[in-house]
Amino acid sequence: MTEEVPARVRAPDTVECAMTRVPQVTKPASTHKPDVLPLSQALLELVWPTRCAGCEAPGELLCPECRDSLLHIDHTTACPRCGAPYGRTICTECYAASGKQLFSFSQAVCALEMEAISGRMIVLYKDRNERRLADYYANLLFAAIPAVWFTWADCLSWIPSDKRSVRRRGFDSMRPIATRLAALGKVPPVALLRKAIVLDQRRLDREQRRQNLIGSFALTDAAIQDRYSRILLIDDVFTTGATLDSAAAVLLTQTAIEVRVATILRAW
Ligand SMILES: [Zn+2]
Ligand SMILES: [Zn+2]
Repeated sequence: MTEEVPARVRAPDTVECAMTRVPQVTKPASTHKPDVLPLSQALLELVWPTRCAGCEAPGELLCPECRDSLLHIDHTTACPRCGAPYGRTICTECYAASGKQLFSFSQAVCALEMEAISGRMIVLYKDRNERRLADYYANLLFAAIPAVWFTWADCLSWIPSDKRSVRRRGFDSMRPIATRLAALGKVPPVALLRKAIVLDQRRLDREQRRQNLIGSFALTDAAIQDRYSRILLIDDVFTTGATLDSAAAVLLTQTAIEVRVATILRAW
């Protein structure tokens, strides 16, 4: 149980330490000023100019104002079990439930608090095809996750989208982020999980989500064959933790001895 003030870290622009290192968004090639843009890029920029994912200001994928307004969560001042920025020790919600283990994963780290801009960015990435944000999110997670997790992990995996979502969006949204993050952390990326189609989770409470998710994850052939025991699992948003909990439970019963999780956003 903690008394500390919520750790709302407004990370500065140029901090080098791993804890608060702030990923910079690489300007898309179309906003650099080379002498001559490739014709396809120039046409694309003409028809569909790059706009800030936070405020739609033209020019950059994430403008300096929006980047500076994001609320970074420093994991050293967040609950180690659920990633909520409520202090240095286990938060009241996890503490109250600590008699019976609340989550099957052992630790969680979340990079940003969910608010208007970070929420808008994730919708643009997942549902509006702004896939250039994958690099930003990989760098963001790399900065937020403790460095020792990358030497601890046998592999890095992600919560997969179900087939219907992949068809609708055209991609498995966490896969490109996981691939890039794995390269940064020098950990093999492995597709360990398959996801069945489940009801939309957003209007469900914790228990309803748990029921909805039972049986929704299964291991892939790669997970069954290669037997990974220390798994770093990533997802986009941690709300009740039910999705990550269900996925980790499947991994723990069939292959893993420990699962740690990291997400881009923490929502309440
Ligand atoms: Zn902006
Ligand atoms: Zn907690």
